[in-house]
Amino acid sequence: METRLIGKSFLDGKPLEVCVSEGKIKSVLSVDTCPENVWIGTGFTDIQVNGYSGLDYNSIQSDILALGQISRKLLSCGVTSHFPTIITNSPEKISALIHQVVQLRKMDSLAHSCITGIHIEGPFISPVDGPRGAHFREFVQAPDWNLFQKWINESEGLIRMITLSPEWEGSTSFIEKCVESGILVSIGHTNANHEQIMEAVKAGARLSTHLGNGMHSLIARHPNYLWSQLAAENLSATIIADGFHLPAEVIQVFKKVKAEKLMLVSDSVALAGMPPGEYEAAVGGKVTLASNGKLHLLGNPNTLAGSAMNILQGINFLLKNNLVDLPEAWQMASIRPHRLFEPAFEPFTIGQKADLILAEQLPDHSLKIIKVFKNEVEIPLG
Ligand SMILES: [Zn+2]
Repeated sequence: METRLIGKSFLDGKPLEVCVSEGKIKSVLSVDTCPENVWIGTGFTDIQVNGYSGLDYNSIQSDILALGQISRKLLSCGVTSHFPTIITNSPEKISALIHQVVQLRKMDSLAHSCITGIHIEGPFISPVDGPRGAHFREFVQAPDWNLFQKWINESEGLIRMITLSPEWEGSTSFIEKCVESGILVSIGHTNANHEQIMEAVKAGARLSTHLGNGMHSLIARHPNYLWSQLAAENLSATIIADGFHLPAEVIQVFKKVKAEKLMLVSDSVALAGMPPGEYEAAVGGKVTLASNGKLHLLGNPNTLAGSAMNILQGINFLLKNNLVDLPEAWQMASIRPHRLFEPAFEPFTIGQKADLILAEQLPDHSLKIIKVFKNEVEIPLG
């Protein structure tokens, strides 16, 4: 069966007709007109997903297959590819959590195609309160290549990135080994000084994880790890644009400094995608998910308990606040993160997997998904 999709290209706004057949892009044509406000583009890639819809990649499930729901729910929001993110824990628990994702992909073909990597965030991060964020202090440790190599093997090559802090001795050689093994190193949850950050970049670190979060609430005016990461030419950066983790003006500045190197992650926790209410969370204890999407400690709206938004909601925060235009917002959640791992990726290439989204831009500038294509099927929206 062949499907024709017509809309403005998410690259340049020009009308495009894309023909999809057997899960692949069959033809791409420029056309004269298309429905106003309908856009077509590459599916979203979210490289930081802790959980979604009540399900958690950071806890051991009695029914591993239940985790497949995360892929399905995210797909209906346009996320055609995501990285389960496993945070600081005991080495044994991290092994077990990796094993769980590997097993899930073996049993569930849709999850297999949606989960395109694992992101290990920790345990080689800063032990210091503030930069460490909500990661368990007791399991934070110095980089240990033998341990990480064990996890790489257990993941059967699925670990594609690690977030670490280069403040530890031995970070440089650890980063070099990661790069040699094809694993992207991102700096995050860090208390490193300027020299340590520059050394890490020289050794091959290419990204900052959720820049502007996982920090002290007060820092020295200069030098500090924020200036250092902003100044580093070769560092791209991810941000959480849920409207709570970063004020709009910070995003504006990051955009000016990082330009095409700035991209989105959701960093969603298990409660993302759930109805508002009070919950018991694995990290944070008793929490409130407010109707505006803010997830905070019960009775303490100023202390965030993780991000409860998906990446589409991040795009929509950027659009509604006129922080970037539609093509840029879409690219920040799709080809930019994708190209960290596949630099030659060109959207709308004939013969390529048709991971595509058709979406409408609403009067408030936000995007509403019309259709999502993945693996020859149109995904039901929900
Ligand atoms: Zn984090």
